[in-house]
Amino acid sequence: MNQMIKDIEHQMLINGMLVAGQGEAVDIVSPHNDERVLSISEATEAQVDEAVKAARAAFAGWSELTPKDRSLHMLGIADLIEDNAELFAKLECLDTGKPYHLMLDEEIPAVVDIFRFFAGAARCMNGSAGGEYLPGFTSMVRRDAIGVVASIAPWNYPLMMAAWKLGPALAAGNTVVLKPSELTPLTTLQLATMLKDKLPAGVLNVVFGRGQTVGAPLTSHPDVDMVSLTGSIPTGQAIVSSGAATMKRTHMELGGKAPVIVFEDADIEKAVDGVKNFAFANAGQDCTAASRVYVQESIYDKFVDALTDAVRTLRVGMPFDDESEIGPVVSKAHLERVEGFVKRAEALDHTRVTIGGGRLDQPGNFFAPTVIADARQADEIVQKEVFGPVVSVTSFETESQVLNFANDSIYGLASSVWTRDTARATRLAAKLRYGCTWINTHMLLASEMPHGGVKMSGYGKDMSMYSLEDYTVVRHIMISHD
Ligand code: NAD
Repeated sequence: MNQMIKDIEHQMLINGMLVAGQGEAVDIVSPHNDERVLSISEATEAQVDEAVKAARAAFAGWSELTPKDRSLHMLGIADLIEDNAELFAKLECLDTGKPYHLMLDEEIPAVVDIFRFFAGAARCMNGSAGGEYLPGFTSMVRRDAIGVVASIAPWNYPLMMAAWKLGPALAAGNTVVLKPSELTPLTTLQLATMLKDKLPAGVLNVVFGRGQTVGAPLTSHPDVDMVSLTGSIPTGQAIVSSGAATMKRTHMELGGKAPVIVFEDADIEKAVDGVKNFAFANAGQDCTAASRVYVQESIYDKFVDALTDAVRTLRVGMPFDDESEIGPVVSKAHLERVEGFVKRAEALDHTRVTIGGGRLDQPGNFFAPTVIADARQADEIVQKEVFGPVVSVTSFETESQVLNFANDSIYGLASSVWTRDTARATRLAAKLRYGCTWINTHMLLASEMPHGGVKMSGYGKDMSMYSLEDYTVVRHIMISHD
């Protein structure tokens, strides 16, 4: 394992070769014990350019493969990850600190399923029917690959986000230059190593480095046709602006602040359990986290007490402890950011921290699961994405009031409604301006179903056939009968 980690230092993949970055070295630090895992050198701009050129050169061959042959490659990637599940899970936990058993049992199977789904999807893309729309001419519609895709991934689910990006892009016939987050590159670099001889040279290139030094030159490269980002709003704005010069297609999966609406007729136990599970999973570092809870007045006190008791049972711990349910947050800088949100919320006269509220007194970036009750709609803790193990709870009186509260957000990724009244749930689901609304559950995803936002949460879908469509271009072919 130690030698394998050491080898990752020179495992960027460019044009079918494993190479070391020639730029500045960046330390990879384990968030659960502050230990440096290794130091990896970033790609230089020249290496980014080489990777884009390799992807461009590989495009014709890859896009001209039959869907069946591309599909076989995707199945191969799925098998490879499945066969090396323990290794991938260990590497992921070293640089994210997340619980190993959850990574192995929940995330790895989901990652494998993404590649298997897109293996099938590659062979099932539909177009509209061909026909004669002008007399004497036959028209048909093609869906073709776009070209070179620059994919930029975040740190919260490194391997899963790599899968969400690579699955549809490669299945559709594009070639890719992928940049993992500089905080959590290990699993992506490991995947690159294992795919070196499994994919034709240049089809997948992986470069390592920070946003400014490597991400920016990659996403603004004139020979990149499309940029796909999962990341923050400011990064999305920077990428869309710089892409305007060469009119790049963009696919933006940005942040979220999911409203969770709990009515008095809900199964309260189930709703409390749902918030406990879906707000604190992955230490709350999830763009769909159930972090903004609205509870109807008549059950408010009961709900806050029950949630506080439930959160008290959460086990925060080290990644390789089977009892751990929640790990640390990803970095010291992020820990300070989370702490800042909680301190500012706590300082307000009307709020109550019913549990948690601070760092754990131990090495690593551990923050206690926190509930902030009596938050008001205008409070920062209700409006801004914390991306940590922190939940705000706000009371509401009527359905129309809570609909306004829920939609009063710059974000539009995910939401949930908890009620036994199906008519009410359906009515609200139709009016909530979010890419997804769950009823009596939250956060669950399926490879066949689209995931993506509206408003400042971005646009474009991950997973599902819709994602495959996003990574293709619709073209019209017209044939004269003469
Ligand atoms: P981030 O925007 O700081 O970084 C994301 C990636 O962008 C990293 O790889 C980073 O190196 C790169 N990057 C940064 N600046 C860049 C630039 N100027 N040009 C090109 N690349 C650049 O985000 P993060 O902190 O890694 O991730 C957390 C954010 O991601 C949260 O806001 C979260 O909500 C969001 N997120 C969204 C989804 C979703 O599906 N909508 C999923 C996970 C995370």
